[in-house]
Amino acid sequence: MTGGAIRLHQLAKSFDGVPAVTGIDLDIPAGQFYSLLGASGCGKTTTLRMIAGFEKPDSGRIELDGRDVAQDPPHKRPVNTVFQTYALFPFMTVWDNVAFGLRYKKTPKDETKRRVGEALELVRMSGYAKRKPTQLSGGQQQRVALARALVLQPSVLLLDEPLGALDAKLRKQLQLELRAVQREVEITFVYVTHDQDEALTMSDQIAVLAEGRVEQVGPPQEIYSAPATTYVAGFLGAANIFDADVLENDGGSALCSALATRLGATVDASCQPGPAAIVIRPERITLQSPDDPVSPGHNAITGTVAQVVYHGASTQVHVNVGEPAALVVDVPNRSGPGSVAYDTGMSVTCVCTDDAVRVLARSTAAVIKDPAADLVASPV
Ligand code: ATP
Repeated sequence: MTGGAIRLHQLAKSFDGVPAVTGIDLDIPAGQFYSLLGASGCGKTTTLRMIAGFEKPDSGRIELDGRDVAQDPPHKRPVNTVFQTYALFPFMTVWDNVAFGLRYKKTPKDETKRRVGEALELVRMSGYAKRKPTQLSGGQQQRVALARALVLQPSVLLLDEPLGALDAKLRKQLQLELRAVQREVEITFVYVTHDQDEALTMSDQIAVLAEGRVEQVGPPQEIYSAPATTYVAGFLGAANIFDADVLENDGGSALCSALATRLGATVDASCQPGPAAIVIRPERITLQSPDDPVSPGHNAITGTVAQVVYHGASTQVHVNVGEPAALVVDVPNRSGPGSVAYDTGMSVTCVCTDDAVRVLARSTAAVIKDPAADLVASPV
């Protein structure tokens, strides 16, 4: 590993008086695959462009390996960028596209040949060296763009939605390839995406941004299973978010009043009793008949099935629990399409453990809700 640690301190940027980034602090360790995730307009690209040097911050520090580079022009930073549009030179072959930066830097011919060959091999494009970009698919063009950036051996590679123009299947394949390339080169990748699935699949750490600031930073498992705010919970995957009142907190195990019942929940030890919100992931809930006893130590929420939606691998059951939004339960279709035994209008008990119920802070950023859950909220 050759460095590539980034530290952003109170980074801020406005455009014509309108704040785009409002004081971002981030510590990006060298060699990580680090994603900036958030809804459109939350300031991801502006943050990336400030790291690259394409945008000048109004205030704050950008440190690369301990050195403040905020005033350095882009070409003076050990950083390269891969954009969504591949920006390859159309009149040059793949080989010449990848060699361009090295030739510009007057790298010796032998070294250029070796490094271009290695870069093309890394992205599995060795067999396409003589083609022009127009003779390549979108995925192949993006691989070439990646090789062109990596061949310059930057400490940090910035990637701005690089898979955004590709279809879903190719995107999934390239996600895994990009991750493998990053592990091999051990360069810090800062990856901008609004696709939560992509961020979860690829990242060592994710910073979730909202309205120009950081809502939460952590590894994918933590961000998904222990979201700190309603915004993060709503942005990452399907989430059942409801108002709750924390009645007591015994060192991280809480009792809440929510969904017209009492629920055991997991909280930060510092969480104070009072109004809050809870999130329960749909896959953490099971359904059972109201006639069946609930296992000790489990939460039980009663309701009426409002809608059953088949998704192939799983079926989503929307349960009306007397709230404006339905409680969505994800049932894996282990026994095929008939895995869900409940139909619209039937009474059910929704069961989950205490650690499936997370208490979190209400975010000032608007929660991105599951539209399907809203649609079935009215009683059937
Ligand atoms: P997206 O996912 O849609 O690209 P983003 O999270 O990357 O969004 P930014 O592109 O950083 O968001 O934009 C943040 C805010 O700053 C937006 O409100 C945007 O309209 C504004 N903005 C960005 N660049 C400029 C610019 N050059 N001039 C004026 N406003 C800008």
